[in-house]
Amino acid sequence: MKSESYYLDLFGKLGAIFKGSHFVYSKGGHGEDYVAKDLFGTYPQAEEMVHGLCEEIFNFRPEIICGPELWGSLFAFGVYLDYIKHYDASARFCPIEKNHEAKDGEPSFILRRGYDKLIKGKKITLIEDVLNTGGSAAESAWAVEQCGGKVIIVAALCNRGKVTAEKLGVPAVVSLVNVDMEVLTEEECKKRGPCSRNIPVRTDYGHGKQYLEKT
Ligand SMILES: [Zn+2]
Repeated sequence: MKSESYYLDLFGKLGAIFKGSHFVYSKGGHGEDYVAKDLFGTYPQAEEMVHGLCEEIFNFRPEIICGPELWGSLFAFGVYLDYIKHYDASARFCPIEKNHEAKDGEPSFILRRGYDKLIKGKKITLIEDVLNTGGSAAESAWAVEQCGGKVIIVAALCNRGKVTAEKLGVPAVVSLVNVDMEVLTEEECKKRGPCSRNIPVRTDYGHGKQYLEKT
């Protein structure tokens, strides 16, 4: 199994994780780090990523590998192909869909198309790309449990929100890398963040361009 620093280095080289620069986030906060969530799966190194996730989960002997739409389910399918090849040829895969009809306050993920019957009574691994607040993972876990499946582990490429097993209500959470992203307010950034060190705001990622236009 490769180390966390190996994957941090890999994600850095791919431009999927940046550290030590100056970003403006969607809600106006500032910080040094950025996770380009939609980039991970677009590189051929995605094969290495799914293999890394597979090594994290095989000991748990899941019977079904699941993941929430969009990248969670795509990575879950990658992990699944690796898992049936190397560990358990009888395992099954199923995607978890966004429930576009969900009303306010209702979980926004759902198992349909008969997958609800497939997972009943089974041990499930849930794959995610990036854990931010853990919201979609928690709602996916809920959807699985509603159908009688048991989530035994959640595995992600990157945990950037210190998301814990307790928070998701599952027995275990693993990730290839943990990024402890500190989000500062603009004022805090001017006092002690990259603003205070005159590091230019990145305009290629996040909301730096809009931020500079209005200041
Ligand atoms: Zn700043």
